[in-house]
Amino acid sequence: MAKYPTYGREEFPYGDEEAFKQVFFEAYENGREMVGCGKVADYIPELRKADYRSFGICLLKKDGSFLSHGDVETRFSMQSICKTVMLAVALRSFGFAKTFSHVKMEPSGDSFNSIIKLDTASNLPYNPMINAGAIQIASLLSTRFSFEELLGITKSFCMDDGITLNRAVYESEWETGDRNRAIAYLLKSKGVLQADPQQTLDLYIRMCSLNVTAKSLAGLGLILANDGQNPFTGEQLVHPRHIRTVNSIMFTCGMYDGSGEFGVKVGIPAKSGVGGGITCGVKGRMGIGIYGPSLDEKGNSIAGITALEHLSHLMHLSVFDYHPIPENGEKGRE
Ligand code: GLN
Repeated sequence: MAKYPTYGREEFPYGDEEAFKQVFFEAYENGREMVGCGKVADYIPELRKADYRSFGICLLKKDGSFLSHGDVETRFSMQSICKTVMLAVALRSFGFAKTFSHVKMEPSGDSFNSIIKLDTASNLPYNPMINAGAIQIASLLSTRFSFEELLGITKSFCMDDGITLNRAVYESEWETGDRNRAIAYLLKSKGVLQADPQQTLDLYIRMCSLNVTAKSLAGLGLILANDGQNPFTGEQLVHPRHIRTVNSIMFTCGMYDGSGEFGVKVGIPAKSGVGGGITCGVKGRMGIGIYGPSLDEKGNSIAGITALEHLSHLMHLSVFDYHPIPENGEKGRE
């Protein structure tokens, strides 16, 4: 077992960079010890090639300082994390009312690729963070944006010009994406899909196949944490009220049917992908990006969740934490 932190909950020495680093490395070690307890995704054959032992975390703060360790430069497909970007772009382009006339905003409680509720309980997908909801958003976006335009937007959201399409993952998902095809055609049969199913799926699968790193996901997290603004360039990428919506949906639905437990134990808006990535925005403070392709049974990075629990607990990162975190190095109000 990794060494458990020496700080009690009330004693964390805020402003002490060494203590901050110690907690960070403990979190990393705790996560790394879990890699053997999960499994790399295999339903998209190309994803099987990932090394289950890979693990990297990057924390990026508003002042530009960052802490990173492990496999933070490794490129991997962002998978469902693109749902966060697509929702933000939909809100920015079509507004709140129109976007949510195409998809609901309720946790589904089912696995990310489930089709059950879409057939039986509702004509609209439950939320934009499950496949059905993201396919619906992709159909809306495809009426206005090309893939190249969305790639450019993703690069700016992630502060990473190196993002490209992972063609092998894209082709692999096209060949084996029968469930997603079923979802798209079911949406079409209900008359709610906004574009041709093939065109919609092509955009959705391309977005899932974008190659990011833990560092790029920390960049995306920082934009989410910073009310939609890039703190380094001052560029406002998305209006704060839309980022508020994205963060809310991430909080309730971003970790699929593990969102409730994650909300209680970690308490940070986050989005995972079956490629092993997680992006988190800690409101007003930092972005966290993770790569750990060994997944738990819900499809979330097992090492990533373990490390985030540790970080959140020790650094009081939950949105519901009762200790305000002062930036000036003094101890928080009791
Ligand atoms: N591309 C994947 C799919 O559609 C995304 C799923 C995920 O990351 N959970 O199945």
